[in-house]
Amino acid sequence: MTRCNMVKFDDIIGFINNLYKTEDFLPLHEPIFIGNEKRYLSECIDSTFVSSVGKFVDRFEEMVAEFTGSRYAVATVNGTSALHVALKIVGVDEHCEVVTQPLTFIATCNAISYCNAKPVFVDVDKETLGMSPESLKSFLKEHTSFENGVCINKTTKKKIGAVVPMHTFGHPCRIDEIAQICKKYNIPLVEDAAESLGSYYKDKHTGTFGKVSVFSFNGNKTITTGGGGMIITDNENLAKRAKHITTTAKVPHPYEYIHDEIGYNYRLPNINAALGCAQMEMLEKILADKRETAEAYRVFFKNFENIGFVDEPAEAHSNFWLNALLLPDSKTKESFLQTTNDQGVMTRPVWRLMNRLKMFESCETMPLPNAKWLEERIVNIPSGARIGR
Ligand SMILES: *Cc1c(COP(=O)(O)O)cnc(C)c1O
Repeated sequence: MTRCNMVKFDDIIGFINNLYKTEDFLPLHEPIFIGNEKRYLSECIDSTFVSSVGKFVDRFEEMVAEFTGSRYAVATVNGTSALHVALKIVGVDEHCEVVTQPLTFIATCNAISYCNAKPVFVDVDKETLGMSPESLKSFLKEHTSFENGVCINKTTKKKIGAVVPMHTFGHPCRIDEIAQICKKYNIPLVEDAAESLGSYYKDKHTGTFGKVSVFSFNGNKTITTGGGGMIITDNENLAKRAKHITTTAKVPHPYEYIHDEIGYNYRLPNINAALGCAQMEMLEKILADKRETAEAYRVFFKNFENIGFVDEPAEAHSNFWLNALLLPDSKTKESFLQTTNDQGVMTRPVWRLMNRLKMFESCETMPLPNAKWLEERIVNIPSGARIGR
């Protein structure tokens, strides 16, 4: 570790503290509640409808559908449950493999596993941090064949049940090319858009390219409901099915309790949806603020020859959920993480690649040079909204 690096790290820490106008501990991301949050929560409590039914759930679903330009939206208790159900309703089961990217949060692979399916890992693009259409195409070309219009893995004989790209840190992947490949191979596309509310690819909202897609409203996401998720789709039958199985598969009846399949209690409580409605009202403001923060980082990091700022990809409009840097090597990354966290500026390496976790190390993988390269270099830096600071 050279002295020159130390100085640079101190410059960076100083810049970030100045940006957020604080010397106190600075988290990676924190929610902000400066709209109607308290009012709607009060209303919700006064109504006594804090649980599984209530007007805020419907309103929150309508707001997300409208914002994203999706026809239907079904709220769930978190993003992971939304993914589980999204995969289930497109037919993913124990006879399936699901193609996804190794550079993602564990929830993607957990949801695949809840369906008793197995992930297959293809590489990501260095520019987007998301699934590489070329790597996906190679996998499908080399390892699958068509049997009765169904794409089958030639070796394992399992059906390719879905393709699940993820829009990493809110940066859209090359989703239209991926959608075309899925169409050609007749594979349902499920977008893990958990991180990308407010991100667009070629002026179309992420999550609207797939057959079904999901968002997360966990506490660290762009907006939050405490915990929460959403399934979006343009397909009426899939939307109805998502609503049905996330609400215990109860057959509508004024008083009888009859359930027609094994369902889930995955509905979003009304009190969380109340928070969601207020947060949705603030979304445009939060996005504008996050864009300004990213712009400040972009300009500042131009001064550093060895540090790259992860910017929005071509033809994309990112929500800049989490800003990320590319450090020159893993050694510099380690000392950067140590120095910043020691000084109260929270930074974080990217998730360990999924194919390296013990649950998934036996899964089929394509060559992953880009994912490995990125894993060694990416760190996230404070990215919460600065409104009100
Ligand atoms: C946040 C996130 C999810 C969903 O997480 P929950 O905490 O269950 O809401 C899914 N996938 C990715 C990539 C995420 O970042």
